[in-house]
Amino acid sequence: MKKVVKFGGSSLASAEQFRKVGEIIHAEKERRYVVPSAPGKRYSGDTKVTDMLYDCYNSASANGDISGKIKAIQARYQEIIDGLGLELSLDEQFAEIKEKFEEGVGSDYAASRGEFLNGIVMAAYLGYEFVDAAEVIRFDEDGVFDSETTNDLMRARLETAECAVIPGFYGAMPDGSIKTFSRGGSDITGSIVARAVHADLYENWTDVSGFLVTDPHIVPNPETIETITYRELRELSYMGATVLHADAIFPLRQEGIPINIKNTNRPQDPGTLIVESTCRQPKFTITGVAGKKGFCAINIEKDQMNSEIGFGRKVLQVFEENGISFEHVPSGIDTFTVIVHQSEFMEKEQRVISGLHRAVHPDTLDLESDLALIAVVGRGMRAQRGTAARIFAALSHAHINVKMIDQGSSELNIIIGVRNEDFENAVKAIYDIFVLTHL
Ligand code: ASP
Repeated sequence: MKKVVKFGGSSLASAEQFRKVGEIIHAEKERRYVVPSAPGKRYSGDTKVTDMLYDCYNSASANGDISGKIKAIQARYQEIIDGLGLELSLDEQFAEIKEKFEEGVGSDYAASRGEFLNGIVMAAYLGYEFVDAAEVIRFDEDGVFDSETTNDLMRARLETAECAVIPGFYGAMPDGSIKTFSRGGSDITGSIVARAVHADLYENWTDVSGFLVTDPHIVPNPETIETITYRELRELSYMGATVLHADAIFPLRQEGIPINIKNTNRPQDPGTLIVESTCRQPKFTITGVAGKKGFCAINIEKDQMNSEIGFGRKVLQVFEENGISFEHVPSGIDTFTVIVHQSEFMEKEQRVISGLHRAVHPDTLDLESDLALIAVVGRGMRAQRGTAARIFAALSHAHINVKMIDQGSSELNIIIGVRNEDFENAVKAIYDIFVLTHL
């Protein structure tokens, strides 16, 4: 049995947190491969080391003196090293980092040092081998993650390491320069390692006990999701559930490796298990409900649109030509609506309108802004009668007008459009009907 364990920044922010992590790792000998983030916030209002590094690099690029900033970053590590009673000096590494920053080595290199250094500390603390991610994670010339080369390199390298620490968040370009994933990308590194070593489980340790059925800012103390499928998670993450980096499931999907989201501060909690598929019935009909504000609908009407072949393509081409991606396209017989992110659309709005007039000569074209989209997601909704009826009854009781509905035939999710100002109440009403009344 092999487990890959990834620890987020808040789990590694101080010596005290490091000790908890050490206990967790040593509690099971299967926890052989460890992926650390950079030290995160020790308290609210604190600064993450990654942000300190970006800031320091910006100063270096503006030719400022960075000695003070480098010292402050080194102090964060020294506090951890001293607190753990380790005999370890990072003087050499910091001298090199300062030099490279002053040479203008690039902000990806700068940010990656947070994980790199934390990996060195972690390896020394655990007595595990340190494997630099630059050796085993590759991007191609265009900066796109090269999954197959990486998988081969990682597998070959870790075959020779019984236990190892591989820092998260970065890899190397073909020329050896450092490239990072997007923010929160250590989650992706953990998945890559889990795939390469054929792990039985990928444990992702953070500061919450898993995914919640909905946003706790909207519903206080919502229930935790016990088991969720990759596909359900994709839907919820896209709509704003942020515990795990949205790209972290791709390497694992290919191997069907489960992910367990766990809480470093409450290791006794089971957390959330993310799986490819499962016979386990979800506790509630819905697995989760999430959403986002700030969408805009472009409604197009034209008599006999339905018999005009290519109408939809011509409409969507206008959006493509303006570099705008669309979210949904609900349509009627003579109506066609395109839903887009308002922020992406606003500055190009007039160009899109004239483009649509030229392309499809609509009878009317109107815009509706300030819409929110809510995704009600759940494998338990499949082949269940009455789910939609319950959602809309709940919204109607809450006096909320539904502006749009979209349900794919997979029956995995129902997307509902409401006005921005109705968003929170709508989410609450849906949560209440399925979770509080336990239907
Ligand atoms: N340290 C990086 C960040 O703050 C990556 C990570 O923590 O996953 O985004």
